[in-house]
Amino acid sequence: MTERNLHRSDGRLAGGGGAFFIDSPTVIAVDKQHGTTPFTTSLRIAGGQIAEMGTDLRPLPGETVISGKNRLVTPGQVNAHTHNWEAFWRGTQDNLPLELWMLMCYPLLGTEPLAPEMVRLRALLLATESLKSGVTTVVDDAYELPTQRLDHLAAEFAAYSQAGIRANVSGQISDIPFLDTMPFARDYLAPEVQRLADDCSVLSSSDYLRFAQEAIASFDGSGEDERLRFMLGPSAPQRCTAELLIGCGELAAEHDLEFHTHVLETRTQRVHADRDFNGSFIEWFEQLGILSPRLTLAHGVWLRPAELELLSENGCSIAHNPLSNMKLGSGLLPWSQVRRSGINLALGTDGVCSSDTHRLSEVMKSAALVHKITSDDPEEWPTAGEVIEAATLGGARSARLGHKVGSLEPGKSADLVIYDLDTLAFCPRQDVSKQLIYSENGSSIRQVMVAGRMVVEDGETVLVDEAELRRDIAEITPWLHRWQAEAQRANEVFLEGFWKQYRHAVRRWSGSMCSPWHSPHEWRRP
Ligand SMILES: [Zn+2]
Ligand SMILES: [Zn+2]
Repeated sequence: MTERNLHRSDGRLAGGGGAFFIDSPTVIAVDKQHGTTPFTTSLRIAGGQIAEMGTDLRPLPGETVISGKNRLVTPGQVNAHTHNWEAFWRGTQDNLPLELWMLMCYPLLGTEPLAPEMVRLRALLLATESLKSGVTTVVDDAYELPTQRLDHLAAEFAAYSQAGIRANVSGQISDIPFLDTMPFARDYLAPEVQRLADDCSVLSSSDYLRFAQEAIASFDGSGEDERLRFMLGPSAPQRCTAELLIGCGELAAEHDLEFHTHVLETRTQRVHADRDFNGSFIEWFEQLGILSPRLTLAHGVWLRPAELELLSENGCSIAHNPLSNMKLGSGLLPWSQVRRSGINLALGTDGVCSSDTHRLSEVMKSAALVHKITSDDPEEWPTAGEVIEAATLGGARSARLGHKVGSLEPGKSADLVIYDLDTLAFCPRQDVSKQLIYSENGSSIRQVMVAGRMVVEDGETVLVDEAELRRDIAEITPWLHRWQAEAQRANEVFLEGFWKQYRHAVRRWSGSMCSPWHSPHEWRRP
């Protein structure tokens, strides 16, 4: 760490942050009273929390006063779905649907395990770009090939501890042989090619649950403000056994952890559910007893009305990843139907091999825009306020942190972003909530605070030396290129069969490219 950074963070680390007084900024609180309507108030921050808010507050002796003139304060954003694995794969793929894309950036065969130090750099990269862009909480569904180890997880927790970010970090697991996680893979692959995949070892559910228990004991609740948490990450219904899903549900309930999984991201998965799961992954989840407010589904693009209802009744969340869903041609979640159903809606970038950004603000702008072209009824279109809520309080709720972050209210942790309003994006000053979504690109961010600790000052990370991080990663990049090329070459053997599988699945679909909601036709049952 440089001297400059040491100096900056000096004195602000003890006891989860210093004492601050933010004097009369414009605030978007996302609280019950104001929602996302901007207003003016002062904030007192002490002991890592928002101690007081009000227009008649005055600074106390010993407080660092931050002038609120030309400043906007918002809750920190919650990136409700990403994978730090992909931080080394951004910019490598284009124009591949999920099932083919996975072969190239999560290569099944021939992937050498990464050293924990590389995993640490990878997670630090995610944390750094997140914090600088106003994300104070990341939900990192951490996956590791060929197998995730505790020292990988330790490296991820160490990175988030250093950067000062809040995080839920999973062990992500699939305990079903790879080719059986897709509906037609075996139909299009020669036996000797199938054998290559089948020879890869698959972790058993009991091994994973033991791993998860060790991870909970070692890492859950670490960091100031207990801000680093473990979460259960069974990859997807078609990739996990009933024993695994039930075991994860029990552990999540016992420790009140987020239960994070991927559901109905692509048309292939919808076809799979219809053929092999009696028409519904969600009804299957219900039978297993794992629908609960702890459950967050990434994607949910191809959910049907009855499934939305079940999720809503059980207080579940959906993490919506429009950039990833567009880039992989997966489809588009029915925004207004999900909102109306009462399901808690959060936003995620997904991994940066499919988005390719850790900046949730880009997801926010895309979400606000893309759904407007799916209906000719403007009543159905997302408002800037709905999007801000999904990116803050919605994300917090999905991460089991709704009581702690996601809005600016006395008693909550001081996770917040301070924007400069004297910038081109806010010139001339109009409705700053709309300008925040449609005009601001992150360059107005001056300070970011997590649990009352300043983690970004003048737009730069305080606890991570970004130049050093970029240097460290540049040093290993030639090795990464070789590592990636070798793994990709080893998996080309699956490509032809996987294209055939993809075409088989999409042939069953006669409707629009979006979800069944947006289709003028009925879903064609197999
Ligand atoms: Zn994902
Ligand atoms: Zn994804």
